[in-house]
Amino acid sequence: MNIREENMIEIDGSQGEGGGQILRTALALSLITGRPFRLLNIRAKRAKPGLMRQHLACVQAAVAVAGGEAHCTAHNGQGQALSIGATELSFTPGPVQGGDYAFAVGSAGSCMLVLQTVLWPLVTAQQPSTLILRGGTHNPMAPSFSFLSHMAPYFAGGGPALFEMQLMRHGFYPAGGGEVQVRVHPPAQGLAPITLLQRGALVQAWAECLHTGVPRNVAERELAVLQRALGWQPEQLRNRGLRSNEGPGNVLQVVLQFEHITEVLTAFGDKGISAEAVAQGLVREVQSYLAQQAPVGEHLADQLMIPMALAGLQGKTSHYWASAWSEHARTNAQVIERFLSVRFVTEPLEGGVRVELRSVADACGTWVAHST
Ligand code: ATP
Repeated sequence: MNIREENMIEIDGSQGEGGGQILRTALALSLITGRPFRLLNIRAKRAKPGLMRQHLACVQAAVAVAGGEAHCTAHNGQGQALSIGATELSFTPGPVQGGDYAFAVGSAGSCMLVLQTVLWPLVTAQQPSTLILRGGTHNPMAPSFSFLSHMAPYFAGGGPALFEMQLMRHGFYPAGGGEVQVRVHPPAQGLAPITLLQRGALVQAWAECLHTGVPRNVAERELAVLQRALGWQPEQLRNRGLRSNEGPGNVLQVVLQFEHITEVLTAFGDKGISAEAVAQGLVREVQSYLAQQAPVGEHLADQLMIPMALAGLQGKTSHYWASAWSEHARTNAQVIERFLSVRFVTEPLEGGVRVELRSVADACGTWVAHST
């Protein structure tokens, strides 16, 4: 067995939530630490297990930022090239290089999940990067462009911006075709710790309906439901018809901007679901967030975990109060703890959970294996 194989981390992709997050987190941390991994039972708990096109795009993006196939390899269980449906992956990382990259999911799959895979490796690279990402920009079960652009400051703690995003074109399921440009700025002093323990006062709240290729009254009906249920004024409602070549699509989002946190909640129109039902689902999410005091919503909670773990490796303590600690977050914690000498310590707090990142004192490793 050579040194790399000895170092190999074996991960069971059926653990916990058993979905694609295990793959994305493992890819990101393998690139950051330089440790190879073998992932078995990929997405075993999903209706269609194995790699789907969007997961393959994540693996290909990870290989590309690590010097391409000459330096970084990704094989299936038989040691051959990966293809859709693969349930096993052996990944050997190469040195992460900042630079200019373009990645296309090649379907309406979320290009924001490709970003989730390569963002933290590129944040820890020595050079800045510019990414062009093509695919879905506003997808169910993924962070939307709008969500990530509002959350960008929280990933940076109080430090300088780590990334900026620009939407060139929307992409919705099933047509896809969206495009986002992202500039990544590696911080000179490493990542800042993250502290999100209070919301502060509500500063602004608004709802926005993005739509194209659906009857115009769909947006009006969705916004009317939100207005009635939340008691909002007409100026809090934004009806944004998009260019017809960006659709069809219908996304309804609510932005709640507090002094110390902004939450973005999203619902998606779909065939066979009335505009009213789409909006009512979102109203329930908004009411449930407003009924609590925790600043960090369920989705931000799992997405903050990698940056806080990286800051933790440099001895910086992060903590937040989240409205929920999902199975997704628990599984993510297990994968992160396999790669990094950190622990996520949670305790219940007023219907939510307080999460603290602790580094494991006697084994505090370096965070960028390839940076010198
Ligand atoms: P799959 O196995 O199909 O790839 P998965 O297990 O990777 O699924 P999901 O649970 O669908 O993943 O979540 C993927 C990521 O998208 C997570 O980081 C989650 O927080 C984020 N996410 C999902 N829904 C939203 C949302 N409405 N707003 C913001 N982020 C979201």
